Formats: sequence, C-alpha cells, structure tokens
Amino acid sequence: MCRITNFFKLIFLCLLFVTNTANANGSSIRIVTSFSILEDLVKELGGEYVNVVNLVDRNSDAHMYQPKPSDALAIVDADLVIFNGLEFEGWISRLLQNSGYKNKQLIASKGVDAITYGDEVDPHAWQSFHNIRVYIQNITRTLIMLRPQHTDEFMRRQKQYLNTLNALEHRLIEQLAKIPRDNRIVVTSHDAFGYLGREFNIQFLAPVGLSIEVEASAEDVAAVINQIREQQVNAIFVENITNPRLLQRIAAETGVTIGGRLYSDALSNTDGPANTYLNMMRHNIESLITAFNPT
Ligand SMILES: [Zn+2]
Repeated sequence: MCRITNFFKLIFLCLLFVTNTANANGSSIRIVTSFSILEDLVKELGGEYVNVVNLVDRNSDAHMYQPKPSDALAIVDADLVIFNGLEFEGWISRLLQNSGYKNKQLIASKGVDAITYGDEVDPHAWQSFHNIRVYIQNITRTLIMLRPQHTDEFMRRQKQYLNTLNALEHRLIEQLAKIPRDNRIVVTSHDAFGYLGREFNIQFLAPVGLSIEVEASAEDVAAVINQIREQQVNAIFVENITNPRLLQRIAAETGVTIGGRLYSDALSNTDGPANTYLNMMRHNIESLITAFNPT
C-alpha cells in the first residue's frame, strides 16, 4: 500500500516538475522573417522555442514584394523581426516604420563578406556556405539573448545544424572538383548566384541584373547569346522566382537545352526539391554538376 502511495507521489512530483519547467521556459519567441530561407533557418535553430510568421512566400520574389496589411499586424505582435539586409528587402524599413514596431530587429547578413559592384551590393549572400554560417551565428546569438535560459539547447541545435551543413559542403566540393573549371559556366535569369560562383569557381551569366525589377534589354540578351556561342556554354537554368520565357528564347536561339530549375531567392514548396536551405544548396549544386558533365 505504502509502495503504491509512494509511486503516485512520484508521478505527482514528476508532473509538477514538468509543469514548472514548462512555465519557467516562458512562451516561445514570436518571430517574423522576411523570406522563406530565413524562416527555415530560424525554425531549424530555434526548434520548439520559436513561433515564426514568414512574409514573402516560397517560390516568390522578395525584391518586388508588396507588403500586405496582415504583415504589419504580424510585425506588431513580434518579439523579433529578422530580414536579410544588403538592400534585398527594399520595402522592409517602411513596413517596420508604418507598423510602429519597437522590438528587436536582426539583419541576418550582418558581418558577411559581401560582394559589391561599384556602389551596388549583391544581396544574395545566403547562396554561400561561408556566409550562411554568419547568418546562423547571428540568429543563434539573438535567440540566446532573448531566451538565455535555453542557451544549451540553442547551442546544441546550432552545432547539429553546422555539422550537417559542413558534411554537405564537403561532399559537394568533392563532386565539383572533378569538373574542369572551363566547363563551369551557366546561364541563369538574374544575377543571384555571384556568391555561389565565387565560392565554387563557377561562372554565372545572366541577362538581368541583381534584382529582377529591371527587364533585360535587347543588347543584354544579345550579349548573353554571343557568350553562350563563344564559350560553348551547355548549362541554362530557369529560376523558381522568375518567368522562364526569356531563358526559353535564349535556349531556342542557341540550341542549348534548359538544364532544370535553380532556387535563388526562395525555397520550393514543402514537397519540392528545395524545401529547406540545405536541400536548396544540394539541389542547385548537384543540378549544376549534372549539367556541366558532358554526356
Ligand atoms: Zn534576387
């Protein structure tokens, strides 16, 4: 009898402990992210301690995004707003201002090794394993600042994520090393892969510039077509956030087949090949390797 009572006491104490721990944890951090790549990183690094609302959807373009009234409402309720910076989200400062947001802001790219062309900065810094580690550190550091009681858990998640990232990077470097540098030329819709190109010695050509706001001129298109012919480029890829029509025209004129789709500024749908940041990097680089390999 006594043993049974003790057993129930123990259960009760356990329950009490669990409940108290849950209360001590506080509520999850309410975070707004500007685009899907940041949403994925924050969920991976924050786990159960974050509640994320994302603004620019998967497969959507953040350069030309028009904020919705519901975005301002999500921001007002947030503890933390995370965006890329490097002039990627031209609309974010006005949105923050209009919503009267006063809590913490994090520019995820802060401290990256940015690429600049004259006075223009390339915002696509996440397309680099080296830079994404800076994003990861910035995010983890901010989560710890907001919930220091979960430091161990945030550090454990960061370590685990970095281990997976490192292993993927290593494997892709080894695969790409087999391809001669002269073969590593690819045409994409807009200049979104400067960082990937720098890191993996891949030359990306694009008829449109850093943002897709400006349409390609006839001269730009002609220049790309000439380059494809002169350098015998055999990789043309459409992007998930842009209309493929222009590239289809270039492919038809040069007789080069389109090698598939690259994910530049947004993840794919959840059932797609680039549904997470890691899967996006894997999909993009493996697709390029396949296209570079002469069959
Ligand atoms: Zn872009």
